[in-house]
Amino acid sequence: MGEFNLSQALKANRSFVDKVIEESGQDIRQCYQCAKCSGGCPGAYAMDYPPSQIMRMLALGMKDKVLKSRTIWVCMGCNTCTTRCIRNIDIARVMDTLRQEAVKAGYTEKGRTVIAFNDAFLGTVKSYGRLFEAGLLIKFNLSTGNLMKDAQFGLPMLLKGKAKPFPHKIKGRSEVKKIFEKTKQMEGN
Ligand code: SF4
Ligand code: SF4
Repeated sequence: MGEFNLSQALKANRSFVDKVIEESGQDIRQCYQCAKCSGGCPGAYAMDYPPSQIMRMLALGMKDKVLKSRTIWVCMGCNTCTTRCIRNIDIARVMDTLRQEAVKAGYTEKGRTVIAFNDAFLGTVKSYGRLFEAGLLIKFNLSTGNLMKDAQFGLPMLLKGKAKPFPHKIKGRSEVKKIFEKTKQMEGN
């Protein structure tokens, strides 16, 4: 990890640590470093730091390293860590907060495909009131520049009725749009 001045980082980033605690509702300073979360994490093999290490780095104020880590984007929110934590810390929720903070700070490079998928998914829900799988796939492939990704599954899925060629629009689309607008307003506060 290289040389790192802990007391300086703590001093400089105390407000960030407090913010993560407030936004996630989880007191990460209660972590015992037992590593049970890391031991059960199905994504740990692909992470640069296991979840217990992220918790420690966070408590020590290592803001940039945490927000620039691959870990927060590899985390799939499965909650295994949360159910295993002996200190009842909702680690999955902390990961969620860290992803939001990484986007705000502009540290999105390692989360590019996750963000593209998220935008494509929510885009179809916003437009039609529910998920439109074919639209999601096309939008995701276009935004990641991987036009033919999974294209071989499209026709068999259509023929077997597992995917529809056109979106099904629900009746309450205006209500769904209001939820999106309200969420946007809350983000601005
Ligand atoms: S929620 Fe994320 S960090 Fe926790 S066990 Fe699942 S993948 Fe790992
Ligand atoms: S399981 Fe909980 S207490 Fe143990 S290292 Fe992970 S976050 Fe810390």
